[in-house]
This record gives sequence, structure tokens and C-alpha cells, in this order.
Amino acid sequence: MENFIVSARKYRPSTFDMVVGQKSITGTLKNAVRTKQLAHAFLFCGPRGVGKTTCARIFSKTINCENSTPEGEACNECESCQSFNESRSYNIHELDAASNNSVDDIRSLIEQVRIPPQIGTHSVYIIDEVHMLSSAAFNAFLKTLEEPPSHAIFVMATTEKHKILPTILSRCQIFDFNRIKVKDIAEQLAYVAQRENIECEPAALQVIAQKADGGMRDALSYFDQIASFADRNITYQSAIQNLNVLDYEYYFKLVDFFLAADISETLLVFNDILNHGFDSQHFISGLNRHIRDLLVAYDGKTVELLEVTDDTKQQYLEQAKNTGIQFLFKALQITNQCEISFKSTQNQRLHVELALMNLCNLSPKSILSIVEKQTEQVKQNVQVESKEKVQPQEKPKAKVNLSPPSALNTSIGNVLNAEGKTLVRKEKKQVEDNQERNAVFTQEQLLDAWKYMVESVQASSPLAYNLVNSVKPLLKDDYVVEIPLSSDFQKSTIEKARDILMSKLIEKLNNSKIKFAYNVSEKARPKSVYTNEDKFKVLNEKNEKLDQLRQRFNLDFG
Ligand SMILES: [Zn+2]
Repeated sequence: MENFIVSARKYRPSTFDMVVGQKSITGTLKNAVRTKQLAHAFLFCGPRGVGKTTCARIFSKTINCENSTPEGEACNECESCQSFNESRSYNIHELDAASNNSVDDIRSLIEQVRIPPQIGTHSVYIIDEVHMLSSAAFNAFLKTLEEPPSHAIFVMATTEKHKILPTILSRCQIFDFNRIKVKDIAEQLAYVAQRENIECEPAALQVIAQKADGGMRDALSYFDQIASFADRNITYQSAIQNLNVLDYEYYFKLVDFFLAADISETLLVFNDILNHGFDSQHFISGLNRHIRDLLVAYDGKTVELLEVTDDTKQQYLEQAKNTGIQFLFKALQITNQCEISFKSTQNQRLHVELALMNLCNLSPKSILSIVEKQTEQVKQNVQVESKEKVQPQEKPKAKVNLSPPSALNTSIGNVLNAEGKTLVRKEKKQVEDNQERNAVFTQEQLLDAWKYMVESVQASSPLAYNLVNSVKPLLKDDYVVEIPLSSDFQKSTIEKARDILMSKLIEKLNNSKIKFAYNVSEKARPKSVYTNEDKFKVLNEKNEKLDQLRQRFNLDFG
């Protein structure tokens, strides 16, 4: 049987250029080799499996190479390079500080450091997981680090930079390694697959890359694992099955159900997910991420932040179109809250189910929003009534409406039918009365009513509140209220909250013929609230000498 070499070893980069996703670091190291300006101590920081040790090894090989290329790469041909490539070089010493962290371990290292290399120019000491050294060991090491022999170079690697003593940090050249991007990992996997003649679907590589969370080594070992499981044909299905990743189709399905306010289907899907052995916390954090991705896909500018294949990106774009910015914000709040309080809850399944129901209730089609809307209407009408007590004895009685709104689907409709008793609807006659309201009002009264409206929507629609609070409406003929706006987005924000805004104005001005007209133009963009001159005036009121100072130095408002 052929000897199997794991891909992480087989495809370990042997030159700086082959290192994936750390271009700026390898560039700097190459420059250092090329210009022969070598520091004596380096600290490589970053998450596991992103190439710290690999770079340290390439670095030691390159500085010992007998004819390194003009770009600062090792030739991989000379005797020194070959001894490195065959792991028999005496110029490199690796110490794993996780298991050798005592003073004695460091002392024996220091002993070794004194001996100059027999072949090559430099001895490189790689100390992995250096934050694990005991503080006594650190102190013993400090002296050597401060005055190392000219042939010695230390490369310390750590995943936890904050645990490194400042005295060490200040003596090192520090390199921060990044998590490798999903795209870069997926590309490298595709390269390996091609070299190994392994069939694979791009979506599968994407899943592996995402699961690896920025680490190349992990990605490659997942890759090996699935390749052998799936008999060298890596499909999306085999990948999610092997890595215990929840199929993102579930999330797409769920969001569709949220938008349709379909609580029953939503709960069934969740049940299905649990039956497949996924835990609820895993699920909710995945859902959180999915909604974040929709939010990112919602705006053309941020689409690039999506780390998915092109096909999936299209799917995100389409679903994002069906949602709304307000839906996404609120949904994100709900999933986030659910994730945060997950650990402290007793019944975790119910906890997630409640969040799912809340998500369904965000839809304008949900029974809750219909009930809320109607209750709001009733409240308004009742208020109007109490103000219009012209002939109280003739006032028609509020009627109790037992039938649920027609849009409901049956099962939930039945549950909520009982609740429906509280649903009070006004008789048509009353509505007609409302339509006759046409009290005349002035621009000043409009501004007054506007202010009242702004205050009353502050809690319920914060987005609209910010907007209406900053604009000044203008009264036109026929009770048309012109609203100056600076973008279509602002217009749609107002349109979404139109019912509530309008009802407040009607209530205050006692005129139901009011209409909104939008005047969208760039000029309406409010200028910054305080100019520098404004600020200066306020300060000058507190201290008059300020203006004298300004005049003396002939200063202007920048
Ligand atoms: Zn060489």
C-alpha cells in the first residue's frame, strides 16, 4: 500500500510565495533576507494553522540558502535547502513550549544557542506556543534574547499575544498573522484537489473553508477526511454531513416562512433540524449569521462581504430583496438576543422556538401585526370619539368582531380566534364620520401637529422617528403636506410608517384629507447641525476672552 501523506504536510509551502493569505508578512520577510537586515528575535502572532511555523521554517531555510534568488526566496536546490526539505538540517531547532516550559528546558536551549552552526550561517530557534513558558523560564530566557550570539535567530510563535510579557515584546519584531480568507482557502483546496485528482464541488470547498475558520491546516485535514469518506468525490452533501454543518438551504427556507408568517412550518423545520442531530445553539448562531449575510446582501455596496460561492450569492441577493431593512434589523436583534441568553435558559428548545415565533411575527402578514394594526386603529378612533362628543347619546357602540382576518391560515387562526374577542372594530358609519373631518389649519398648526406626531412615533418606529424629526414639512393647497427628503430610501422609510404618521396628524389637526407629497432632492440633506462658528459662539458666551484671542491671532472658523 502506498504511503499516505496528509495534505497539510504534502502541500506545506516550501517558499514564501506559496504561503496562502499572508502576503504582507512574507513580503517583509523576503525583504529582510534580500537586504540581509535580520533582527535577532521575531514574534509571530495569530490563530492556529495560519502559517506561523511554516513561515518560520521557510525563513530559516532561506537565510541559510547558499544561492537565494534575487527576490529573497530559497533556491531549494543547494545542500542546505535540501537538508531543510528533508528535515535533517542542524540549523533549525524547534521547541514546543507547551510541553517544555520549565526553566531547565530553557537552560538547555540557551546552552545550545552558544554553539555556532557547522554548516550555513545562522541557527534558528523556533519556540512554539511561547506564551506557555513559565515566568521563571521567561526570565532565564530574557538575557539570551537581549544579547544573542550573532549566528542565533529566535522565532517565537504564539496564539495568545496578550500573554507575552512586555519585556519580551519590546525585544522582538512582531508579525501579526491574519485568519486566511475563505476565498483563499477554497482556492488552495481546489488546487490540491486538482493535483490529487479528486473531484469536488465548489460549494463543498466553501463549506470546508468556512468551517476551518481561517486555518489552512484545519481546512486541509477536513479535506482529507471527506475525500476518503466520499471516495475521492467531494460533494456539498458529503461535506456538510462530515463536518456536521447545517445545510444553508434550511436557513433560506426558514426566512421564507418568517416572511409568510408561517409559524407552523417554521416550527416543523426546526424540529427536523433537531432530529438530524444538530443542537439548538449551533442552529441559532447559524441563523444569526444567515440574517447578517442577508443584511450584507441587501445593500449593493456590502455584497462583497459575503463569503460564499457565486450561486449562493445569487440566492442571498434574491432573498434579501424580499425582506426589508427593518425586518432584517429586527430579526438580527431577535436572533442575537436569543443567542446571548441561550446559556442561561432552562428550556432551550422552547427558548429558540419563541425566538422563531417572534421572527414570524415580524412579517406584515403575521396575525400579531394585523391585530396590532387594528388595535391601533381602534385606539385612534376611540380617541377621536372622545373628542367629538357632540351628541354622546347617539354615539354608536363599539362592535365586537369575532371573525379573524381572512389572511390567517387555519391552525393559527383557530388559536387566535379566541384572542380575537378583544378585537374591537368600529362600525362603518364611524369611519365615514372620520372622512368628513376637514378642519382648516395653518402652516404653524401643521408644525405643531408635526412635533406631536414625531413624539408619538419615537418608541414605535425609531427609524421613521429620526427622519421625521429632522425634516420640516410644508403646507400646500388642498391639505397636501410636502416633505423635503434627500433620498428615495428616506421616502420608503416614511412610506413604511405612513399609516401611523398620518393617523397622528389627522388626530391632531382634525382633518382626514391630509396627503403626503415628497420632494426628493439632494439639497434637502440637512447640513451638520452645528457649524464651527456655532460652536464658537456657544463657547464665547461662556468666556468672552475667547473672541479677543481669536481676533488677536487673526483666526478663522475652519
Ligand atoms: Zn538553497
